[in-house]
Amino acid sequence: MQFASTRGGSPAVPFSTALLDGLAPDGGLYVPCEWPRFAPADFTACTSLAEIARALIAPFAAGDALAGALGDITADAFSFPAPIVPLAGAGYSVLELFHGPTAAFKDFGARFLAASMARLRTNATRPLEILVATSGDTGGAVAAAFHRRPGVRVAVLYPKGLVSPTQEQQLTCWGDNVQAFAVRGSFDDCQRLVKAAFVDPALRARYDLSSANSINLGRLLPQAAYYAATSLALTRAGGEAPSFVIPSGNLGNALACVWARHVGLPIGEIVLAHNANRAVPDYLDGKPWQPRRSIATLASAMDVGDPSNMERMLALFPERTRLQAAVSAAVVDDDAIRRRIAEDHAAYGTIWCPHTATAAEVMARMGAERRARGPWVIVATAHPAKFREIVEPLIGRPVPVPDTLARLYEMPSTSVPLEPRLDALRAAL
Ligand SMILES: *Cc1c(COP(=O)(O)O)cnc(C)c1O
Repeated sequence: MQFASTRGGSPAVPFSTALLDGLAPDGGLYVPCEWPRFAPADFTACTSLAEIARALIAPFAAGDALAGALGDITADAFSFPAPIVPLAGAGYSVLELFHGPTAAFKDFGARFLAASMARLRTNATRPLEILVATSGDTGGAVAAAFHRRPGVRVAVLYPKGLVSPTQEQQLTCWGDNVQAFAVRGSFDDCQRLVKAAFVDPALRARYDLSSANSINLGRLLPQAAYYAATSLALTRAGGEAPSFVIPSGNLGNALACVWARHVGLPIGEIVLAHNANRAVPDYLDGKPWQPRRSIATLASAMDVGDPSNMERMLALFPERTRLQAAVSAAVVDDDAIRRRIAEDHAAYGTIWCPHTATAAEVMARMGAERRARGPWVIVATAHPAKFREIVEPLIGRPVPVPDTLARLYEMPSTSVPLEPRLDALRAAL
């Protein structure tokens, strides 16, 4: 299968080229040139999430350099579960995507991309240098995924003093082939530095550079697997197709669900839960498409004013009415996030991270009739322990820390201070 740019200005490429390039040369995002069609029966032989991922991705990787290794890659990436946990008394279930090494859903996509890139680079003569600017979650997932992979080095740039202590530990605890840089500046400075590095002749002469950022097809497509697995599990006994509420920022997670339904998986409604960054809900409400500056909220990994994957959504649904038929969206502000965390802890004993709380709030507001068309599943995108500084004061007790995170907290932390200048980065790499 070939992948084309959403902007139509560069040639179609195979799967592995789309993964290595990240962005298409014309600045667009890669999307499949054709869509395979699945029926639930196509997955009857699959006994694990990894096997469902393999079957789902296989037609996209058909004929590609990675096709033969796809089974190993999906086994590597999907090495932890995505359980569907009914929330007793609430009338919906929770798809827990936080059982990976950095306790957020980004681990799935980052690990798939890392496993793929490592295989594509086995005969490379120069090291691959992955540069990531991060304001928190992405850098941790990418660092963990590429940690100790031969032939690959990772430089994580984060704004010193502007990420939470918990997040900083997840960026700085790796060592080996992962280097963390505490940049004296803002997240925008980090991003500017990374962009400058990509076009710097001196660095390009030394390394093959890549970004591994969340618009990469190799992070997006594998995320469709947990939606496929959930819809298959819930319909196996003759149940209705499940509907999902997805905490959304850059729309990568939601788009994966849309793609899963598009290729034939039994999925009902798809509802996007946004924080106060409301570009997508406003567009679905009939207002003009208007990207904007991001607003800082408690659900910081969703603070996106100009979601990149909207370009892929619009490639699939060019008319607004078609997008409106495909997805709906709601806005949840910080006060509602705080209240939902406290109320659901009191009512059910459950603890949400601030991102997952936006989805729980959407469920709490939903009318009985729509709810009855379920089953409904909310997507838990991160473990609350990652955001304990926010969550603990609201619930009045400590958040139990899962073993995966506890291990990271015990590792020694090292980071290199960096001035936000290209010559400084050049010298430090
Ligand atoms: C990245 C992230 C999101 C937003 O996901 P998108 O794919 O950018 O829409 C939501 N919750 C958490 C915890 C995240 O890390």
